[in-house]
Amino acid sequence: MKQTNQHWIDRRNAAVPRGVGNACTIYAERAENAELWDVEGRRYIDFAGGIAVVNTGHRHPKVMQAVQAQLRRFTHTAFQVVPYDSYVLLAERLNKLAPITGQVKTVLFSTGAEAVENAVKIARAYTGRPGVIAFSGAFHGRTIFTTGMTGKTVPYKVGFGPFGAEIYHAPFPMACHGVSVDDAIAGIEKLFKADIEPARVAAVVVEPVQGEGGYYIAPYDFLRRLRTLCDQHGIVLVADEVQSGFARTGRFFAIEHSGVSPDLIAVAKSLAGGFVLSGVIGRAQIMDAPAPGGLGGTYAGHAIGCAAALAVIEVIEEERLNERSIGIGERIFSRLQQIKARSDTAPIGDIRNLGGMAAFELVKSRAGNEPDADAAKALTARALANGLIILSCGVYGNGIRIMVPLTVTDAVLDEGLAIIEKSLSEITQTTRLPKAPVAAAR
Ligand code: PMP
Repeated sequence: MKQTNQHWIDRRNAAVPRGVGNACTIYAERAENAELWDVEGRRYIDFAGGIAVVNTGHRHPKVMQAVQAQLRRFTHTAFQVVPYDSYVLLAERLNKLAPITGQVKTVLFSTGAEAVENAVKIARAYTGRPGVIAFSGAFHGRTIFTTGMTGKTVPYKVGFGPFGAEIYHAPFPMACHGVSVDDAIAGIEKLFKADIEPARVAAVVVEPVQGEGGYYIAPYDFLRRLRTLCDQHGIVLVADEVQSGFARTGRFFAIEHSGVSPDLIAVAKSLAGGFVLSGVIGRAQIMDAPAPGGLGGTYAGHAIGCAAALAVIEVIEEERLNERSIGIGERIFSRLQQIKARSDTAPIGDIRNLGGMAAFELVKSRAGNEPDADAAKALTARALANGLIILSCGVYGNGIRIMVPLTVTDAVLDEGLAIIEKSLSEITQTTRLPKAPVAAAR
């Protein structure tokens, strides 16, 4: 029987709940570097990279080799039962790479949400305080506590509360939508006055570049002021680098651009190049606060993930992917500027990038800045029809983010950007596609 995408969509609809969104209406057959083929044999360029998971490309040969070698040794012993060298080796590598001063330690988990949630556990154990401050527009995961920390109600929070106690949100600075650094800092000061005194706050958790929230780059001055504020009040500063980490922005960690040294860093996604692994890297004194047995998990720091991550770090260094990320970012930015200057495509608003972490906004009119979420939906669907996988983002749902593997060739990158241009000219007001994907992926 010839396989079709529709065949699997129908079976999926009967077998899998609607709560799991699918951004694409195709089913994957295979993928290689920045390209993917569906079950009908059609080729796509992948600007989603499994949601920023394959910065080193789909099936990088070095990562595959490392995983195969691990498969020949053993698959799972549970680090908490019989430990293995790759966990320790990876912790040593991450401790050296992290922009954290003094002695550093690393603990590994499986998912990004687990990493963030454990960063909160560690901060609470260290400070003996309950409060957690996160930001509007933030995305930190789908567990009950990280859903509570997430700063966007629809679709993440609807129907799932109550969430963990003592979570507070301050505004995230977004110059293009009228929120300044002063506004954001004033928001925290207001929390201190109205909701929780600083002496009860364990952690401030910030994405150096908001991911799902819209690829808004935290101004460096904002991060510095957060550092000062945390120092003043004995609060643990946590950088959630789950989406922005591992060369995405041209550094191993996006916060490096600002020169700020956080206390803890949550990592996941591209850390293991397509395998399941996450971690918390942090100042040893803080990391050692939880008592033995308080941290971990059956699959936490899985051997396959550790093997893959060690190879990922080698690939980033050998192939100079941080430099490549800067080049990719420049190429994307200048091409988007050219498209924006055209008068016959759907209007583009703000365009921004930190290295290869790039996004643009769709707006209702060329002169204005009113977000157009329908245009973003139409564009992702049109791009897919034209052979490009791309995801939306943003508190207003009007952002389009580019998470192309950093191993992409210029030719494939340009081909993808050309599809964005073509699709933007096809979705002008009158020709919007009625059928958009069901829901964003995250
Ligand atoms: N933090 C950030 C910044 C993220 O982007 C995500 C996932 N999109 C998460 C946490 C949660 O990661 P996971 O889906 O692996 O739990």
